Formats: sequence, C-alpha cells, structure tokens
Amino acid sequence: MKQVIIIGGGVTGVLSAWELARAGHAVTLVEARALGNGSSSRSAAAIRAQFGVPSTVRGLVYAERFFRDWTRTFPQSQPCFKENGYLFLYNYAADPEAIRRTVELQRAAGLAEVEFLDKAGVDERWPYLDTIGVASASWCPRDGFLFPSIIYQDGAEAARALGAAVVQNDAVVGAETSGGRAAAVRLASGRRIEGDVFVNATGFLANATSKLFGGRELPIKVERRYLYFLAGLKADSDWGLGLEEFPRLPMIVTPTGAYCRPDNAQLMTGWLQFARPAEAALDNQDEIEPGYGLGLGEYGPAVRKEIAQVLPAVEDMGKIAAATSGFYDTTPDHNPLFGYDGKVENLIHAVGLSGHGVMHAPFSALIVAELVGRGRDAASLELPSGLGPVDLRLFALDRAFDRCEGMVI
Ligand SMILES: Cc1cc2nc3c(=O)[nH]c(=O)nc-3n(C[C@H](O)[C@H](O)[C@H](O)COP(=O)(O)OP(=O)(O)OC[C@H]3O[C@@H](n4cnc5c(N)ncnc54)[C@H](O)[C@@H]3O)c2cc1C
Repeated sequence: MKQVIIIGGGVTGVLSAWELARAGHAVTLVEARALGNGSSSRSAAAIRAQFGVPSTVRGLVYAERFFRDWTRTFPQSQPCFKENGYLFLYNYAADPEAIRRTVELQRAAGLAEVEFLDKAGVDERWPYLDTIGVASASWCPRDGFLFPSIIYQDGAEAARALGAAVVQNDAVVGAETSGGRAAAVRLASGRRIEGDVFVNATGFLANATSKLFGGRELPIKVERRYLYFLAGLKADSDWGLGLEEFPRLPMIVTPTGAYCRPDNAQLMTGWLQFARPAEAALDNQDEIEPGYGLGLGEYGPAVRKEIAQVLPAVEDMGKIAAATSGFYDTTPDHNPLFGYDGKVENLIHAVGLSGHGVMHAPFSALIVAELVGRGRDAASLELPSGLGPVDLRLFALDRAFDRCEGMVI
C-alpha cells in the first residue's frame, strides 16, 4: 500500500483516484478549484474506439465497456454514455483502401462493430446528410458521447467511499524534494501532504506542475479549441431530419474535420482548423479570442457553414446560441504521456491527452494504477476481460514520437 497524491481533479485524476483506492492504496486527490474545472467540463466528450493504433483501440474498447457498465459499477450514479455512434466521413482525396485497412486493424484489435461504408451506404442510413463530395466513411454504432460531470462528480464520490481524500479549492503550489525524490506537496492554504508517489494529472498545466517538482519539461503543446451550440430543431426539418431523429444523431465528422452531435436540445459543433495557440491558464479558459466569436467573418459562423454542407438541417436550427472554449494539451504524435519523470523518481505524469482525454479516462486510470503498483515504467499492460495486451511504450515519456495517432480531430 502506498500513499499516492494525485494532482488535478479532472476525469484523469478522478478515475485514477478510484482505481488506486480500489487497489488498496491510500489516495489523496488535490484539485486547485472545483472538480472538472479544467478541460473536462469544457469538452465535446465524444467517445470512440476508432483509432489508428491497435493498443489505443483496445484501450478504448475497454473504456467504452467501462462507461457502458457505469451504473453497475457505481449504482448510486446515472448513465454517463449515450451510444449514438460515431461517423467519420471522407472525401475523394482520402484513399478508401487505407480507410478499409484501418477498419480491419480496428476489428482485429477488438472493435467488432466498426464498418467501412461507401457513399451509397451512407446515403441509405442517413438520408438527411448531403453526401456530395463524400466518397466513403467509417462507422461504429458502439461509440457516442459522454457526460463528463457525472464521471468526475460520481467517480470522486466512489473514490471517497473507498477511503480516498478529495481536496478541492486548494492548489498545489510547491513540492519538497531531496535526492531526486519528492516527499511532500505544499498547498495554497499552507497545508502540507506527504506521499510515496505523486501523480501529475493537471492536463494543460502539466509543465507548470512538473516544474514545481523540479521535473522534466514535457513535450506538450497547448492549444485553444472552441465549441459552438446551435439552438437545435424546433420542428421537422425541410431537409429531412425529423424531430424524433434529432436526439439520435451520431457524432458526425465531416471530410474537413468539422464535427457535430446533439447536446440535449442543441446541436454542438466544432472544428479544429484555424484555432491558434493561446496563453493557457485556469482563469482564461472561457475567453473567446478576437475572430472566434459569432459575428460575420468570425470562426463560429464558419463552423456552422461547414457543418451545414453535410447536415443541411442546420439551416433550420437558427443562429449560434452559445460558444465555449477550453484547452487541448497535445503531444507531437497525439498519443498521451504516461510514465515516471526520471528526474524525480517518484513522480508519474498522466498528461498530454491530445484531445481524447475524457474518453480515455478509464484506460488512463488503469495505466496509472499499473505504474504505481510496479513502482517503475512498464512495457505492457494486460487489459481485463480478455481484451488483450496494450503496448505501454506507445505512451512512454522517452519515446521517439514516430508512431503517430492519425485518427484525431
Ligand atoms: C473544446 C474541447 C473539445 C474536446 N473534445 C473531446 C472529445 O470529444 N472527447 C474527448 O475524450 N476529449 C475531448 N477533449 C479533451 C478532453 O477534454 C481532455 O483531454 C480531458 O478533459 C483531460 O482531462 P484531465 O483530467 O487530464 O485534465 P483536466 O480536465 O484539464 O484537469 C486538470 C485539473 O488539474 C487542475 N490543476 C491544475 N493545476 C493544479 C495545481 N497546481 N494544483 C491542483 N490542481 C491543479 C485543474 O484545475 C484541472 O481541474 C476536448 C477538449 C476541449 C477543450
């Protein structure tokens, strides 16, 4: 049994706290503000196991099972996963054989339900989509989207029930280290907490946290991303999308990487292109920078226009009702970083989630628990329920960053 101090109360920190408490460790989770205060509450929260690297596919198949079984594992909670499916659309520039190969790779890695579709297949299933320019697609009905606040609130409650302590509104502001080991963290309140192992789960603030320990500089780039919300349908659309069908819309990714999905009565939309690096701090997460607002010539209407090309029913959904923003912490190969710092021997980093940290959280938590249990970096991890092995070198801090995850949006 180890005293584990987790810094950061987003989905990664919270589910790691639960997983570690379950394994019998004495866990303290420290969050600077309220749980979910970082990217976890500002996310599109889509989930898919459609990735390009087998270990990630397996890990996400595990995560989808975990979220599907959520109320069985946490009977006090409520469902946190809406399985509406996830549809990637491709244009003629994308090589259909490469897409087919990726689908085969995903199936071989355990995602049995994923399918390759041609244009006719898309037209048949989603007659309300305008598929001019669409040549092929990949589709998985077991994917969908999540409700992050249920995950970090009820996940923290479950960790507490197993004996974990959850500290909120008290930031870690310093660390005591000697001889290359950390002994304790200091909080803004003046409190000092000793530990055997420290886990950095501070998302886009990962490097600031590493610095407090005298740890390594992590290869993370922080970018801002925006979400725009349309009012949704008030009546059946002239473009073939019915009111009844609207809540069942899948997550749709257009050939240019713009995406949308239903969010209660609204349509959530986003697009990664053009969003530029920002100075990232806890206090400016909600800032809408000039050019990214809702006016003519700004980014919001451009995203709406892009989605409307594929989902013309957007024309019946009115103007953009709201915009939100948050930060992405991305690595050079878009795979996360999980491992011991090296400079500080008992500091673990669980960061760099590269825009897929909500869906990854149960898998992240398993990896963190494995690292804590072993007391050193590990090359592989055997997933529960016969889901197979995961190559943890994919996430190692010292990797070459040459096995890129191509399926990112
Ligand atoms: C617009 C947008 C869309 C996204 N879409 C998706 C998506 O569709 N699917 C998906 O899976 N992911 C998506 N993501 C990414 C996802 O939100 C993140 O990868 C995920 O939330 C990261 O979780 P985390 O717990 O690692 O970090 P965070 O949620 O950022 O949590 C880190 C926590 O650390 C705390 N903290 C920082 N410094 C300190 C300190 N010194 N002391 C104590 N606490 C500290 C912060 O307050 C914060 O709560 C999206 C993100 C954005 C912004």
